[in-house]
Amino acid sequence: MDILNLTIVQLREMLKKKEISSVELTGYYLDRIGKYNGELLAYLRTTDDYAMDMAAEADEKIARGEDAPLLGIPLGMKDILCTKGVETTCASNILKGFVPPYDATVIRNLKEAGFVHLGRLNMDEFAMGSSTENSAFQTTSNPWDTSRIPGGSSGGSAAAAASGLCVAALGTDTGGSIRQPASLCGVIGMKPTYGRVSRYGLIAFASSLDQIGPFSRTVSDCATMLGVIAGHDPMDSTSIPEPVPDYQSFLGKDIKGLRIGIPAEYFVEGMEEGVRKNYEDNLQVLKDQGATLVDVSLPHTRHAVATYYIICTAEASSNLARYDGVKYGLREEGKDIIDMYKKTRFKGFGKEVKRRIILGTYVLSSGYYDAYYRKAGKVRTLIRHDFDEAFTSCDLIVTPVSPTTAFKAGERLEDPLTMYLSDIFTIPVNLAGLPGISIPGGFDAKGLPIGLQIIGKPLDEGRILQAAHVFESVKKVPTIPERYR
Ligand code: GLN
Repeated sequence: MDILNLTIVQLREMLKKKEISSVELTGYYLDRIGKYNGELLAYLRTTDDYAMDMAAEADEKIARGEDAPLLGIPLGMKDILCTKGVETTCASNILKGFVPPYDATVIRNLKEAGFVHLGRLNMDEFAMGSSTENSAFQTTSNPWDTSRIPGGSSGGSAAAAASGLCVAALGTDTGGSIRQPASLCGVIGMKPTYGRVSRYGLIAFASSLDQIGPFSRTVSDCATMLGVIAGHDPMDSTSIPEPVPDYQSFLGKDIKGLRIGIPAEYFVEGMEEGVRKNYEDNLQVLKDQGATLVDVSLPHTRHAVATYYIICTAEASSNLARYDGVKYGLREEGKDIIDMYKKTRFKGFGKEVKRRIILGTYVLSSGYYDAYYRKAGKVRTLIRHDFDEAFTSCDLIVTPVSPTTAFKAGERLEDPLTMYLSDIFTIPVNLAGLPGISIPGGFDAKGLPIGLQIIGKPLDEGRILQAAHVFESVKKVPTIPERYR
């Protein structure tokens, strides 16, 4: 039996028919983690006993005839989602040992849907980064080539999905942190519309951009996961009070007549030849399935990265002010309270986090606020208008996810600008609050995965999944490297 290739819907059928138990399924995944996590370092920590208890409970519910979309399904969680009684560190020394007294709304939703919590997935510290190299604890490897990074910041989630160390996982995306690692690891990763998924209990990086979303090996599993985590939540004032559609119902529909926008500005300098070629091939695949390709323009794209690094650092400097050694995690004693703050923050935060706090404090300081922060807000509006305009002539926009495939560990560490610029295709989507997915599009000459991004109008996740499913069914790109099959 090929457990790794079964969707959640198929696994649920088997569980219902008692062809497998959740305890067996969970044991299977924990064994795989035991076997492969040493080389991949996708998980920071596993929660074996907790997982086995949840699995046993799921089996009891199944025996009683209960049903729920994730009942008995083992999943991995990015270590940024507060989980009651489970250490949650954000891959930072400052939160080492922090055990939340409450569940994030997504965790509560997953629990109600019956999931099994396998463990905590590695990430860049406070989700700042594109490679997981900013984790205070370990750098995750890319399952397709372990000398390369898996992308970031949700690199642990992407690597775990790609190597079959979970059925699916959750990650977060502020400027590309779901889509970019999904692309670099050759799995599916979706950032929902801003406000579609509650951020309550998600440790904040940049609150006006952060969104939680799924990683999976199939579009069907992405639809299942999204259906469970999406929905209105009074605990998050930016949460959208709209009903959640049945995302599975979009799968299997064709895309004849669908208008797909191709933005001229996304053919950027520095895009690898292999990535460009694959993108063009994939547009042809969509065309062959009956979609119409239309040229669109997103003229403010070139300002997106700069705008993002003003807004996200400003919000981060404010959000991270709460780590003062008083309420959470690490505390370094000092001669007075200011000295204690200084010593705690100096020791607790890593280099990239400090860089962002300094940048953010600067762009918010008096005299610079108007020149930087206020102006960035205006450019953000222009970027959103670009998309509004483009969507008057198309239903979806299709672009590459990242200008390059996975790079070597260490390659960009001393060059934060190159690291920042690689998010050029994902950042505008966050600034505009739109939903976007990365789906496996194929491989470059080195055998490294290349993702294809599908962007939709607000709350149009269903249509994105519809197109992604058509593409997946036709192109059939393998999502697990040979070694881990
Ligand atoms: N790579 C981007 C950054 O470093 C995006 C991170 C994210 O989406 N969390 O900020």
